[in-house]
Amino acid sequence: MRTDKELFEQTNELAKKFASRMRNVVADGFDFSRDDIHPRANCFWDMACIAQEVLTETDMENVDLDEVRLAPVIDIKCIVKGCSNRKSEGEFVGELCLPCYNMLISGVVKYGRTFINDMQKKIDSVGED
Ligand SMILES: [Zn+2]
Repeated sequence: MRTDKELFEQTNELAKKFASRMRNVVADGFDFSRDDIHPRANCFWDMACIAQEVLTETDMENVDLDEVRLAPVIDIKCIVKGCSNRKSEGEFVGELCLPCYNMLISGVVKYGRTFINDMQKKIDSVGED
């Protein structure tokens, strides 16, 4: 018989594996069951709960999450102005999300709505004059 804490940790680990499979890498100790995270991260928690139900007939609704939750991990935002990516949504290199990091080190501006794209548009429009 698994304790609520064990069930929580196992389900959170499952959610982390699902997220990783979708290239969403999160910080150690990230809590997928929290309400204040990106909906996509919550989706991985829901998938893990489904797995618990199907494989072990465990209804995670019966687990008192408030009793077993991890201490909150701050979900930092990419430091690039205009970029809304958060650590719970994908890979980070230091304080930069991976797309911004790649744009900065490669000089290749991909689509998106960040200040980098605005600068590229300005550069492009100057060239057209
Ligand atoms: Zn970014």
